[in-house]
This record gives sequence, structure tokens and C-alpha cells, in this order.
Amino acid sequence: MNKKIKAITFDLDDTFWDVKPVLINAEMKTRKFIEDRIGKLEWGSWEDFKIIREKLIVEDVSYEFDVGKLRKRLLFMKIQERISDPETADELSEKAFQLFFKERNNVKFFPYVLDEIMKLSKIYELGCLTNGNADIKIIGISKFFKFNISSKDVFANKPSENHFHKAKELLGVSKEEILHIGDHKINDVFGAINYGVEALWFNPKKEIWDVEGIEKPLEFSSWQGLTEVINSLYS
Ligand SMILES: [Mg+2]
Repeated sequence: MNKKIKAITFDLDDTFWDVKPVLINAEMKTRKFIEDRIGKLEWGSWEDFKIIREKLIVEDVSYEFDVGKLRKRLLFMKIQERISDPETADELSEKAFQLFFKERNNVKFFPYVLDEIMKLSKIYELGCLTNGNADIKIIGISKFFKFNISSKDVFANKPSENHFHKAKELLGVSKEEILHIGDHKINDVFGAINYGVEALWFNPKKEIWDVEGIEKPLEFSSWQGLTEVINSLYS
């Protein structure tokens, strides 16, 4: 028998919206903004990015869970290839980051997400847990949620228990009364179950469950009617 839940936490990227086109658009506009001011730049590959990121994490561990800080630093480093004065480079990277952040929050919800969040918010306490830096205030949905915990708030990324533990504290309910919903098999489903809260897997691409040692969770592939599904499963 499933548990009776009182609160629901949600992942954001790839659970409420498809994040890839959002990030590509934000990245492209930011690059253009910078190049319009200082000329063409070589932006490097995904592999180059990963190497630089690892180096920065060795220097300062917060780069691992503060994606905004990481982004700003990478823009600054790129701009410094042309502008040696650190103050001028910093000013331009700050402006570029503001543009990136605005576009990063320019998201298109999956069908029925807003309807269902609205309905669920009338029945359950809701919160968000993200490894990214989406801002639910800017996106315009903060009124439905008690909080949005991002990795920089808890100094760790999901699946670490920090997000889930902080959520439990803020919700003031027991672990058994929380349901976590997300698309990521490890960060969301494994993380939630490992901490001791119920997990519901958003699986729109109908992926195979292949996480060893964790029983296949309940899943859904469309947001349509989710409130009724949750009410019937967990009450
Ligand atoms: Mg996600």
C-alpha cells in the first residue's frame, strides 16, 4: 500500500520544461551579446568546458554546485582573452550573465504542467528542488510553492540528501508524508528513495528502468490528469 502524502517536491529542469532548447538559446544570445562588443571568440567544445570546470572545482568547491557562479566565471575568463583590464571584463561578464539568466528563465512548460501545479497546490504543500539555477519567481510560478531549494543553498547537488533534508525541515512533515517528482533516475528517484521519501518518476521518453538495487518506481509520461493520479495513489 502506498503512503498518504501531505507534501510534494518537484525537480524543475526536464520535469516542468525541456531545458536543452532553453540553455542553447540562452548560450547563443549571450555569446552574440559579448561578440557584438569585443569581436569573435573561440568558445571551445563541451570537453574543454568539462576540463575547465574540473580545474575551477579544485580551486573552489562551490563551483560544483553553484552553476550561476560557474557561468559568470567562465564568461569572465572568455572575455579576458580580449580585455585584460579585470574591472572592464568583470563589468561585461556581469551584463552578459544577466542576459543569460533572463533567457535561462524563459521556459516553455510541458503541456498541462501549469494546470496540474495549480490543482496540486490547493491540496498539498509544494516545493522545488533543483541542481540548476532556474528562478521560479522570474518564471512566474512562485505563488504555488513554499520554497525553491537550489544546490547553492544546500552546498550539494541531488542525489545528495541535503536537498531532501532541507525540504523536510521547511515542510515540517515526516519523510513518509513527502512525495518527490522528477525526471532523473539518479538525482531524483534514487536520491529521494535513498533519503526515505516516496518518488514518482516523470518518464516522458519511456526509458527503461536500469538502476541497480532500486525497485522500479511508479512513473508517468504526461502531466495531463496528474492530480487525480496522485490523489488516487497516495491518499
Ligand atoms: Mg531534471
